[in-house]
Amino acid sequence: MARIAFIGLGHMGGGMAPNLAKAGHEVRAFDLSEDALNRAIERGCTAAGSAADACKDAEVVVTMLPAAKHVLDVYRNHVFTNAPKSALLIDCSTIDVGSAKTISDEAAFAGFTMLDAPVSGGIAAAEGGSLTFMVGGSDEAFERGRPILEPMAKAVIHAGQAGAGQAAKICNNMILGATMAATCEAFVLAQKLGLDSQTFFDISSKASGQSWSMTSYCPVPGVGPETPADRGYEGGFAAALMLKDLKLAAEAARQAGAYTPMGTEAEELYQRFVDRGGGDKDFSGIIKMIDDSWVVPQD
Ligand code: NAD
Repeated sequence: MARIAFIGLGHMGGGMAPNLAKAGHEVRAFDLSEDALNRAIERGCTAAGSAADACKDAEVVVTMLPAAKHVLDVYRNHVFTNAPKSALLIDCSTIDVGSAKTISDEAAFAGFTMLDAPVSGGIAAAEGGSLTFMVGGSDEAFERGRPILEPMAKAVIHAGQAGAGQAAKICNNMILGATMAATCEAFVLAQKLGLDSQTFFDISSKASGQSWSMTSYCPVPGVGPETPADRGYEGGFAAALMLKDLKLAAEAARQAGAYTPMGTEAEELYQRFVDRGGGDKDFSGIIKMIDDSWVVPQD
């Protein structure tokens, strides 16, 4: 069992860190939010007074932070200066590929081994230990990191070298944003054409319109398995986070010279939804905006 520093105990980290403690690891947790830290302590983690304190004597450092600026700050100012060089560093936050490569290079320069290991699955999967980890880093680092990630995971997949985990994550979420928007459009059109939503679901979920957005995360209340649509689009995966991921994909596409028109369109739709106050709603709530767009004057 390992001594693990866990930094960032929000919606995701707050579920992940206790799963490491439950697996028998000694988890020294830190978050700027006292409430978040207290919740982790109640669930088997030990409180650290600071990120630096958490890193002292750590064998593994795991971070789950909002965005690249937090990741760069925490590693440069707290982890590199306080963790033992033998510690394996694992960043699970979703950040841009360029920043992931930069911080991995800086880690190597400082004598550390690092993995980027963003996740798919959301808050329920973080709680339930059923996240999918997409991991970037050397073969050797991946083999060291795999047993640490497993208690939090249903799948741990080696995507390639440093930055490859983040590349996989944003490409996956670009598909998700585009298919959710397309699924919402199709349900709205089907309703306007007089089709019953349940009937359309029964057909499309078994036909070529099928996707995860249709079958597992249907945006129409009362149709398909229970989803955030059945809870007024509360909880789930916030539209603001989907927009963040689509912006990361757009920037990566620009830098790589890739043509991603569907990703661009999805980004514009989610930007409009967030601008209209939908940022905290589940991302499937965009169906309301798509439905209303014909009657509500455009911006
Ligand atoms: P969150 O905002 O709920 O949690 C982030 C936590 O980091 C907060 O508790 C915050 O206080 C803490 N933090 C920020 N700066 C810190 C610092 N310097 N030191 C210590 N703690 C600090 O975010 P989240 O929903 O848990 O998401 C975390 C990451 O996971 C993001 O990159 C997000 O894109 C990604 N992600 C989220 C979901 C989801 O459904 N929420 C799903 C997949 C991936």
